[in-house]
Amino acid sequence: SCTMATAFLEKHRVPFESIDTSADPKAAQKMIELSGQQGGPVITVDDEVIVGFDARRLNELFGEPAPGQIFDVLIVGAGPAGLTAGEYCARKLLMTMIVSENIGGQALESWAIENYMGYRMVTGEDLMKKFEEQAKNLDLRLEIDQVTGIFGEGNLFLVKTLSGTTLQAKCLILAQGKRPRKLGVPGEEQYLGRGLSVCSTCDGPLFRAKKVAVVGGGNSALQTAIEMSGIAQSVSLIVRSTIRADPDYQKKVESKNNITVYLHSRVSTLHGGRFLTGITITDEKGGEQVVSADGVFVEIGWLPNTGLLGGFVELNKEKEIVVDINCHTSRKGVFAAGDVTSVKGKQIIIAAGEGAKAALEASEYVMKMGT
Ligand SMILES: Cc1cc2nc3c(=O)[nH]c(=O)nc-3n(C[C@H](O)[C@H](O)[C@H](O)COP(=O)(O)OP(=O)(O)OC[C@H]3O[C@@H](n4cnc5c(N)ncnc54)[C@H](O)[C@@H]3O)c2cc1C
Repeated sequence: SCTMATAFLEKHRVPFESIDTSADPKAAQKMIELSGQQGGPVITVDDEVIVGFDARRLNELFGEPAPGQIFDVLIVGAGPAGLTAGEYCARKLLMTMIVSENIGGQALESWAIENYMGYRMVTGEDLMKKFEEQAKNLDLRLEIDQVTGIFGEGNLFLVKTLSGTTLQAKCLILAQGKRPRKLGVPGEEQYLGRGLSVCSTCDGPLFRAKKVAVVGGGNSALQTAIEMSGIAQSVSLIVRSTIRADPDYQKKVESKNNITVYLHSRVSTLHGGRFLTGITITDEKGGEQVVSADGVFVEIGWLPNTGLLGGFVELNKEKEIVVDINCHTSRKGVFAAGDVTSVKGKQIIIAAGEGAKAALEASEYVMKMGT
């Protein structure tokens, strides 16, 4: 959300001062006092305090009205798939618009990417900055907003956004990725940003020398537990069944003396007042124990961002968009790429490649359609 807010303000040329609360405890305290919660970003505009990336409010304050033009291609999402698709479309001189909640997608959350060709090791933030810079050099419009609905009208598509805009396009590339799965316990929404986090990279430094818990047993959960063991006082790793992560991560977890692993356990209750103070975990026999934690990082998997589609295109049982080998969906003129699709590999290099493929198909579609 911090990156999204920064991208929005830069894009709309709003002068701002950025304060890194993870490096400045006094500023962190002030942020909590101002906003009554501990999640970033918190944006102050005159006397108004805006918590999180509130696209609707920021657009009301600083947004520009969208022109009533018809785009050749409208891309939903600016992760690796959407940005690559945008680059390819713009290079084909297609009038292209990307609408996205942020620039970079999930890749922003990776602190060490070692499998994107051309880089031995790069942080997700650095890699996505490079994607963004490359795309920005081209004649490509990028709006920070949330798509709330997509409809067909004649041979055009209408895309509605949270800030109240309706955009028109000849064809679409859906590249809206996926999002974290929820715990499904009472109080989850209430504690999000008040101890509960789905982004250890964003919120990890707030829990320096505190007790934290990480929920999940896959690569992301173990990565987070390892990272937090260097920041927090102690880490409780809560695993629903058994660990399903790469052996390298498992060995690292075993080597850390401040990580305690609870297998066959699920989070059943969140405790605290205004801020989270702990969790109850329940084992398979129904036995309960309270684990104290100032921060809980939820790393239990992801859901494709396809809720906004309704029955617009065919989805599989995992709710992913069904695509053929050339990124065509079940609807003519609608292409899809990356983690939101039925393509099995969920990786940056795959998402980027699929984005390029979708753009080439979109280009051919627009060319055949004529003006
Ligand atoms: C912690 C972590 C570590 C990872 N490490 C690696 C790694 O080392 N190597 C690797 O190859 N892969 C890694 N991945 C996976 C990789 O990040 C994803 O496969 C990749 O980002 C998928 O790209 P995408 O563009 O398809 O989707 P996403 O990255 O999910 O991007 C989707 C975009 O769509 C936007 N969006 C969603 N809904 C809407 C909406 N309604 N309206 C507007 N915009 C919307 C989102 O804000 C986002 O910008 C990691 C993922 C995570 C979470």
